[in-house]
Amino acid sequence: MTRITFVQGDITQQSVDAIVNAANSSLLGGGGVDGAIHRRGGPEILAECRRLRASRYGKGLPTGRAVATTAGKLDARWVIHTVGPVYSPGEDRSELLASCYRESLRVADELGARTVAFPAVSTGVYGWPMDDGARIAVETVRAADTSVEEVRFVLFDQRAYEAFAAQAR
Ligand code: ADP
Repeated sequence: MTRITFVQGDITQQSVDAIVNAANSSLLGGGGVDGAIHRRGGPEILAECRRLRASRYGKGLPTGRAVATTAGKLDARWVIHTVGPVYSPGEDRSELLASCYRESLRVADELGARTVAFPAVSTGVYGWPMDDGARIAVETVRAADTSVEEVRFVLFDQRAYEAFAAQAR
């Protein structure tokens, strides 16, 4: 059984096997979690992202998918980049958000990662309502068939922490 834990903090500072990046499809950097990971992790991660763009993902990483790179100067061994959906009030994109968590765990299993830290994917610039984003995240991880031993949700502020912790049982 995967243990699910919740902490308030900065995902770049977590000592886990893999941290998940709320990336954008270009894989070439952005704000929020993405900016923080590249800032602290150094240029090696971006160099690897560029190589992925030049090879497997010429058109970018599709929404709902995940791909790993090394983690540069971070404590983690790997960064798993996933592209969350932009929130749309008129269209239900929940399945794409769930797919980010499932696909990231699938990549983690391929790597042999035992501990994985996730941010609240799509709840920043991509506008997903926090409570709903928390519900989808936790339900999806609970239902996942994975060898990962600990999934740690790392929430940046208290509001996000409370929304996720409310999903604990
Ligand atoms: P998205 O584009 O998928 O919405 P963001 O990076 O803009 O991604 O935001 C996702 C969530 O991560 C937001 O709730 C944001 O507050 C949070 N966040 C931003 N920086 C960090 C960080 N260093 N560690 C953990 N969470 C962060």
